[in-house]
Amino acid sequence: MTAIIAAGGRGTRFGGAEPKQLVSIGGRTILERSVNAFLTHSSIDDLVVALPRELAEKPPAYLTEAPKPLRIVVGGARRQDSVAAAFAAVPDRSDIVVVHDAARPFASADLIARTIAAAAESGAALAALAVRDTVKQAVRGKDAAWVVDATLDRETIFLAQTPQAFQRSILRDALALTDPATDESSLAEKAGHTVRIVSGEASNIKITTQEDVSMAEAIGRSSKPARTGRAGTGYDLHRLVAGRRLVLAGVTIPFERGLDGYSDADVVCHAVTDAVLGAAGAGDIGRHFPNTDPQWKGASSLDLLGRAVAIVRAQGLEVGNVDATVIAEQPKLAPYIDTMRANLARVLGVSIDRVSVKGKTNEGVGELGRGEAIAVHAIALLRSL
Ligand code: MG
Repeated sequence: MTAIIAAGGRGTRFGGAEPKQLVSIGGRTILERSVNAFLTHSSIDDLVVALPRELAEKPPAYLTEAPKPLRIVVGGARRQDSVAAAFAAVPDRSDIVVVHDAARPFASADLIARTIAAAAESGAALAALAVRDTVKQAVRGKDAAWVVDATLDRETIFLAQTPQAFQRSILRDALALTDPATDESSLAEKAGHTVRIVSGEASNIKITTQEDVSMAEAIGRSSKPARTGRAGTGYDLHRLVAGRRLVLAGVTIPFERGLDGYSDADVVCHAVTDAVLGAAGAGDIGRHFPNTDPQWKGASSLDLLGRAVAIVRAQGLEVGNVDATVIAEQPKLAPYIDTMRANLARVLGVSIDRVSVKGKTNEGVGELGRGEAIAVHAIALLRSL
């Protein structure tokens, strides 16, 4: 089963400097929240996300490092064009396709499941909210003021939301129509298909204007699960050899030798990466970035750490704090510690006070004491987003 996330629009009603999809609600963008509802849903195998061109060309890491297959397509001028572009990228084996508006970051797993179940049974289904208020139909009166023409039977009125789910052939029929439409259900209706209504959720709001953002923040706060902490440790050691640069936490430190390794051999980043992955139960650096894969040869390990952070974010975790101890007989690290912390903080997505790096010697004892290698111990604490 495939989910299409329609995020192709530019949100002209929203205003503001950045695209609506990238506005942050309680620390996560609207797009990330919407995508995550499907990435974490057990019925969804893969996703297709339609983005505006500028975003599709530089997608955020939570899309490129997603834990399920996720394709990115460039959206069209109208919503239905974006969905049609995404539909073209849906794998052949998907018999049901769920369409969701990226501007609705709070669709629950239960709502997604009920919409899918109804579509599996009847061909097409959408989430829609029953109306509580009395509904008036109006016409333009004198001076163009609206006046009531009729009071409608509210029992029969529903406000359309997404998700909307379709058997593949029905969505194909719907998207073949060129009439302008604000959702896929209306196209399916026009194509002659029956669309079933499943009970929507009041919290499944669509963020359209700036005012919606404060309501969304309130919903985000109330829907947040209790924050649990998860700790992970990391350890790494690299040999010091002649003819290599010495890179520690992204800082190139002047020294007569450097660390040997496949990537830039940044032993601090490696230990911290293992701590972050370990806290999430997500394996280790060797599994995600194997030194048998040429794409990681000479790689910036700060970059790899950033990728590891994206991997754990996709599991709903963010970094709380990190502490690392660097065991190096030489050189003196004190002048570089703050730059190292700043580099780590940037890729970990935390403020510098959440990152500690401490230098130690090995008192001349053993291999580390003789300066044959540098070793790092690290611990990371992750918490739920
Ligand atoms: Mg290493």
